[in-house]
Amino acid sequence: MKLMLTTERIPIKLWLDDIEPDALIQARNLANLPFAFRHIPLMPDCHQGYGMPIGAILATKEVVVPNAVGVDIGCGMCAMRTSVRDLGTSDLKKVLSAARKTIPLGNKSHQEAQDEACMPKGHETLNIVGRQYTKALKQIGTLGGGNHFIEIQKGSDGYVWLMVHSGSRNLGYQVATWYNDIAVALNKRYYSVVSAEIDLAFLPLDTQEAQDYIKEMNYAIAFAFANRKLMMKRMFEALQSVTGASKHGKIINKPHNFAAWEDHFGKRVLVHRKGATRAFEDELGMIPGSQGSNSYIVRGLGNPESFKSCSHGAGRRMGRKQAQRELDLEAEIAMLDQKGVVHAIRHRSDLDEAPSSYKDIDVVMENQKDLVDIVVELAPMAVLKG
Ligand code: 5GP
Ligand code: MN
Ligand code: MN
Repeated sequence: MKLMLTTERIPIKLWLDDIEPDALIQARNLANLPFAFRHIPLMPDCHQGYGMPIGAILATKEVVVPNAVGVDIGCGMCAMRTSVRDLGTSDLKKVLSAARKTIPLGNKSHQEAQDEACMPKGHETLNIVGRQYTKALKQIGTLGGGNHFIEIQKGSDGYVWLMVHSGSRNLGYQVATWYNDIAVALNKRYYSVVSAEIDLAFLPLDTQEAQDYIKEMNYAIAFAFANRKLMMKRMFEALQSVTGASKHGKIINKPHNFAAWEDHFGKRVLVHRKGATRAFEDELGMIPGSQGSNSYIVRGLGNPESFKSCSHGAGRRMGRKQAQRELDLEAEIAMLDQKGVVHAIRHRSDLDEAPSSYKDIDVVMENQKDLVDIVVELAPMAVLKG
């Protein structure tokens, strides 16, 4: 930990030295919530989000806060080591075009419904999920827009790795916005000071609405997990079709937008992680940098101070619009070309995902040495963006 602020109702603990003023305002809002438990950890990738900063953790005992999970419920990363040791540029391009045939990118869905066996069970009893289920059958195995990516990486262990970043697509979005709207209305009805103004409306756990939200959230988390798993399978098939690779390691598949019951500081609490992942002792995880920098496979140290969490990436250094306005297109392309990355930067509008729009991953890793150990360093080889 680098810094602790103690002027709020509960402390804010920061794993970074400098924080955007707007993210700090949001962290203060969290720390002043009457139901926030113990302290608010801010991960080294922390930056402004909607209501709650990305890279922040909120533990509660009596309420759930939909915006502290975020709109892309269950969004997360999946990583897998393959048996391939090297891939030339022309093979990399072949793998990408094979993948494009089976994995819709951007906001596209499949033309056909996918096999129901890919979907999590239990949609029948859920209100929003139930209504969205038919559409979701065409959304499973699709990447989604903007920040989501599939990357082929070269590991420091000598193997080629695959990484997938995606969430629960429109299904999770529908659940998130539906229950946040209910929370806003409920908070206003009881004159809660929290509510709409700071975008952190809550649902008391003893209400039916909260129980319904948690069930639907858990389905969306399972859907996002299955979505990444299916894309990982199809990515591996694309790699197989070009290289003949037949073996791979165990899949690591973890959410970074979720809430779950866990034991911390001797209490059973609902831990909301928004842009943060679990780093329990000996648990493997991944911390991506950008399409132009290293990413990492990490092993958690189970540090109780972060509620056993770590960052979910490098985090944004600047907003999307700012990146498109201010970054130098030629310089970003030259840097990626020089590294030999088969990248996704063509136009000024792609600059929102350029390496320089993200924080320095080396600094981010240095700032969380007490949260994770590095297991494998991954260098980008080729990337597909949403
Ligand atoms: P999110 O969009 O879920 O908040 O953040 C995802 C994280 O992934 C970002 O903080 C960033 O560090 C990382 N990231 C974004 N784009 C790429 C990419 O193309 N490749 C890799 N390896 N990491 C990325
Ligand atoms: Mn997402
Ligand atoms: Mn994400």
